[in-house]
Amino acid sequence: MGAQPDNWFDFLIIGSGAAGCVLAARLSEDPSLRVGLVEAGGAATNPLIADPARWPALQGSDIDWAYRTVPQRGTANRVHDWPRGRVVGGSTALNAMAHVRGHPADFDRWVAEGCTGWGYRDLLPYFIRSETYGPGASEYHGDSGPLYLMRPSDPHPVTVAFMEAGQEIGAPAIDDHNGARLAGATLNTLTIRNGRRQTLADAYLTPALQRTNLQLHAECHAVALRLEGIRCRGVRLQAQGKNIELFAERGIILAAGTIGSPTLLLHSGIGPADELRTIGISARHDLPGVGRNLHDHLLAGGNVYRARRPVPASKYQHSESLMYIEAGGSSAAPEIVVACVVLPVTTEQFVPPPPGSAYTLMFGFTHPRSRGAVRLASADERVPPLIDPNYLAESYDRETYLAALEAAQAIGGAPALAGWRAEELLPGPAATGKAERLAFLQKVAFTHHHPVGTCRMGVDSRAVVDPNLAVRGLENLYVCDASVFPSITTGPVNAAVIALAERASDLLRGRRPLAPAR
Ligand SMILES: Cc1cc2nc3c(=O)[nH]c(=O)nc-3n(C[C@H](O)[C@H](O)[C@H](O)COP(=O)(O)OP(=O)(O)OC[C@H]3O[C@@H](n4cnc5c(N)ncnc54)[C@H](O)[C@@H]3O)c2cc1C
Repeated sequence: MGAQPDNWFDFLIIGSGAAGCVLAARLSEDPSLRVGLVEAGGAATNPLIADPARWPALQGSDIDWAYRTVPQRGTANRVHDWPRGRVVGGSTALNAMAHVRGHPADFDRWVAEGCTGWGYRDLLPYFIRSETYGPGASEYHGDSGPLYLMRPSDPHPVTVAFMEAGQEIGAPAIDDHNGARLAGATLNTLTIRNGRRQTLADAYLTPALQRTNLQLHAECHAVALRLEGIRCRGVRLQAQGKNIELFAERGIILAAGTIGSPTLLLHSGIGPADELRTIGISARHDLPGVGRNLHDHLLAGGNVYRARRPVPASKYQHSESLMYIEAGGSSAAPEIVVACVVLPVTTEQFVPPPPGSAYTLMFGFTHPRSRGAVRLASADERVPPLIDPNYLAESYDRETYLAALEAAQAIGGAPALAGWRAEELLPGPAATGKAERLAFLQKVAFTHHHPVGTCRMGVDSRAVVDPNLAVRGLENLYVCDASVFPSITTGPVNAAVIALAERASDLLRGRRPLAPAR
């Protein structure tokens, strides 16, 4: 590598979340590349991170950006909490650990929109490369990747009854979410190893940090990109009150997530020029799509049942089975999800019964059509952005949400759950008509924590990055995280972010991507 200044890299990655950890580890495999990784948060020292059952307690803690949405008309003007990890490991340090790749049709839709190379068959070798699947290798699973994946060996008895109830209403039993079929009854695959959460930093980054060509800059907040003409040269950071600049020759890669990446672009004058002007930022590069196309999965808390006997505590993370339900035949992606949670869960609108006395069937729809935006509230980078997911704006979303409530109630009322069910608490007998049921949904809607889409990949004029993840119209600048998803995948999105970053690392290193699966 020769003698180079400490602030000079080949690749500089902004954000050490799911995508950032994969990129840092894979790019630094090449000893000739000098790789820098910048993270606003600090080391993952909070002891609750490792305990799978304590994940809800991390929300609002010192490792959470603790974003809030603007009031949502579609959910009775409620403001929604949007936790995001601010720590080495990013949101994988506080997520719920479910690993679901998505449906093949999700990725094939990306290809149909011009994102060549990002179809399911293209990504399957990368899903496999990323994992060590506890039950062993197969045509769908790997046994030598950095991320260890387990299946619950001692599932909760309510979860077992839930899966039987699903079969009673017609859901097939399937092996796992990440095999030949996604829809059906199965246990979740979890990112837990030896009883402890495995963050993406544990899986990918920590082992790679032994390399001398990889440097982690934690507690450094990236505030603006340094542009010279159309070339991005580097990034300005704030670290303990000091300004620092780092530079990269072969690429600055934003992996700051669905909120962080567009926010950094906007603060750097890259985005809708007219909108930037109104808050006093002069546009360096007019890119109207930055921050747009925000969408997220909604869940509901929920269809809550009082139990006829004590509900034991979960041995895992309280939610051991997501059931995907198809509306349109097996080649289409499922439109509905019902999750079995062995605790009472609802929103601030209701008082939940005590833990151990009730269980919840959370439900949601998988392909929202409503689109919102991330915008800046101020040119001051300390002010959080305005987050508007525009929940339930589209009638398709409201109708599918109603259908999801119906599916949850059908499962909840099925014979297999009779031994646990004392009575339905929510929505309860009053919510019979469509208007009452919709009003109930507006009160119990909450995020499934899967925002995507704000730096959309595509080939049209409103796309932010091209299919090589390069920011359109600029040089030496890339985005690689959940923000580039053109549209959301059926399941929780973390697995797809990992596969995206795995393939991106090959493209950035100039390596031929793995051959698509047949
Ligand atoms: C509570 C919760 C539960 C979830 N449960 C699941 C689940 O069970 N399964 C699943 O698949 N997904 C789940 N998710 C979602 C999943 O974890 C995320 O979608 C995924 O981690 C996103 O990866 P990312 O790389 O895009 O962003 P992140 O992992 O969020 O990483 C972004 C990183 O960039 C850093 N950063 C941001 N801005 C800056 C800046 N200006 N300067 C420096 N650093 C910056 C952040 O601190 C963070 O470390 C959950 C998320 C949450 C919050």
